[in-house]
Amino acid sequence: MLRPHSYACGRWIAPGDTATDITGPVTGQVIAKAGGAALDMQAMLDHARGTGGPALRALGFHDRARMLKALAGYLDERKEQLYALNTLTGATRRDGWVDIDGGINTMGLFASKGRREMPDGQIYIEGDVEMLSRKGTFLGQHIAVPLQGVAVQINAFNFPVWGMLEKLAPALLAGVPSIVKPATQTCYLTEACVRMIIDSDILPEGALQLVIGRTGDLLDRLGAQDVVAFTGSAETALMLRGNPSLTRHSTRFMAEQDSLNASILGPDAGPESAEFALFIKEAVAEITTKAGQKCTATRRLIVPAEWMEAVGDALGAKLSAVSTGNPAADGVRMGALASHAQKADVLARLTQLRTEARLIFGDPASMTLVDADPEQAFLPPMLLACDDPDAARIVHEIEAFGPLSTLMPYRDTAHAAALANRGGGSLVSSLFTADPDVARQIVLDSAAWHGRIYINNAVSASESTGHGSPLPHMIHGGPGRAGGGEELGGVRAVLHYMQRSAIQGSPDMLSAITDTWVHGSAQSTSPAHPFQRTFTEIRIGETIHTDARTVTLEDIEHFARFTGDTFYAHMDEDAARANPFFPGRVAHGYLLLSFAAGLFVQPDPGPVLANTGLNALSFQKPVSPGDSIRVALTCKRKTRRTDSYGEVAWNATLTNQDDEQVAQYELLTMVAFERA
Ligand code: NAP
Repeated sequence: MLRPHSYACGRWIAPGDTATDITGPVTGQVIAKAGGAALDMQAMLDHARGTGGPALRALGFHDRARMLKALAGYLDERKEQLYALNTLTGATRRDGWVDIDGGINTMGLFASKGRREMPDGQIYIEGDVEMLSRKGTFLGQHIAVPLQGVAVQINAFNFPVWGMLEKLAPALLAGVPSIVKPATQTCYLTEACVRMIIDSDILPEGALQLVIGRTGDLLDRLGAQDVVAFTGSAETALMLRGNPSLTRHSTRFMAEQDSLNASILGPDAGPESAEFALFIKEAVAEITTKAGQKCTATRRLIVPAEWMEAVGDALGAKLSAVSTGNPAADGVRMGALASHAQKADVLARLTQLRTEARLIFGDPASMTLVDADPEQAFLPPMLLACDDPDAARIVHEIEAFGPLSTLMPYRDTAHAAALANRGGGSLVSSLFTADPDVARQIVLDSAAWHGRIYINNAVSASESTGHGSPLPHMIHGGPGRAGGGEELGGVRAVLHYMQRSAIQGSPDMLSAITDTWVHGSAQSTSPAHPFQRTFTEIRIGETIHTDARTVTLEDIEHFARFTGDTFYAHMDEDAARANPFFPGRVAHGYLLLSFAAGLFVQPDPGPVLANTGLNALSFQKPVSPGDSIRVALTCKRKTRRTDSYGEVAWNATLTNQDDEQVAQYELLTMVAFERA
């Protein structure tokens, strides 16, 4: 008998006298007792806000990203313990891969995005400096800082590990402590994962707490700096987001709800095409993975009217090969639903769907199961067909959260998009086509209704990730019916746990706040050539001014011959003059860059290891033969990359003999922490 504990204020708390029995979906036996503990919600909030939050905020983004990396590694080494519990939820090992490995990989991806795309500090800089004054003494910069409250994360039963980690990782990266509340039915798997995280001792005290069972008055106690991230049904979301306390304090509420996701077979994708085969393959995967209990699962299959029958036959053939039964048995592809209640709910909704659609494959009354009792929470894969989807309502509105999908015909692409949009807002819609015009038209007609549009064809088939897989790089969420929320999507996910603030002030103020040299802020003279200074020694704002170099016509011609770039603006005086941008023959922009390097580089071996790139290059004024150029090189930003070197970004400004700016760019170098 499992007894999942809550974790509050640094202590594990056992289920109380009023704990709920959790019945296993495969055996029908009680497998766990959960909830019923008397948790002091205010004490948990105080612990998160007073201990966890300050400890997390004392770290920078990269420190927190390293923490996530360590956590992902720790969980990965112990994941078999999670897989051992996975089958109790009714899921096969393959289903568990999406949940367990999928969750750990998501955490790993946030670790790497945190280090690659966020600063090595405590303030996230969003966008460019805005010029708010003519002389440049008053500027603006958008930044984001961690919220000073707590993230309450309420999850659905279907992904007990991924559902937690995909919310926890961005919240931790942002610097916000979490209180996690898993769905009771599968909470023992979430608890096992939380135990590992706590045992790892990687997180600071108070960064993560766990509520098993009811949340009591937790939501009533939330305020302006807190966030609720909810995943579950539309009804629960509606009830929770209506909490007056959340409204009073404008507490952020993000919802990921159920949705009636669609998959469209393109008008070009006839029964012999590769796209037709792909459509069938993915539809079968969506119906059977996790026994259809995926928020992204395809509920509506929208196909050209003339191929309704061919699609029905092809799907039926594939579905009949899916072995269903005990998720632990060899060869079983589809396991049980998560609970008997879930099975009853799906059957009730199937009855409603059958008022508008014919059941053309699968029969819950006569199932063939491997090593399993049909009385338990099993259902067969099922397919319905709705012949008049325009007149229908239920097929576009009722989500049966189980292994079934409804086939429906369309006339043309506009009709297909309109049917997909009838879901009222979805997480993902997919399209199988080889025709870019079809793809563009469907996207134009329907992207406003879908959080993600997944297009697959023969070109992308072998590497595509599947209709139903939310990827940490891409947003997961959708408008309307899908909850209007947004999760994942790289750094976007982290920003949900942060406050954006517009900072206005002088260049020096902005530079000090953002730890980034801003045009117009102080430039100090470098005590030695910057290429001879270590990463640690170099200071933001440190600048060298080079000597001047005259650019001659011989230089331009030599460069043209040497590189093969004999564009007329460099070689033909009359043609160059006729060009509205040039006064006559001008130097190549790349010649200027090369001369600039020749001016500022210090050639001896030293701490500078490599030039790794160049950003935001602009050529602002032509350089004519006889002009001279010089360079001001200023340290703009420093980012630690490893324990032995970091990236230094330099602002390079090229000016001519009249002090006019002719070019500007950001130069990236890797610089060692110590001299060799
Ligand atoms: P649910 O019944 O709405 O429950 C979701 C979560 O809310 C559970 O943790 C539940 O806890 C909790 N909850 C319920 N009442 C609450 C209350 N008064 N206060 C605080 N928490 C409360 O949904 P579910 O049955 O677990 O999940 C299935 C649904 O989730 C499907 O409709 C599916 O489409 C949707 N879903 C959406 C996504 C997405 O990303 N958009 C992902 C997965 C699932 P208890 O279990 O303790 O009641």
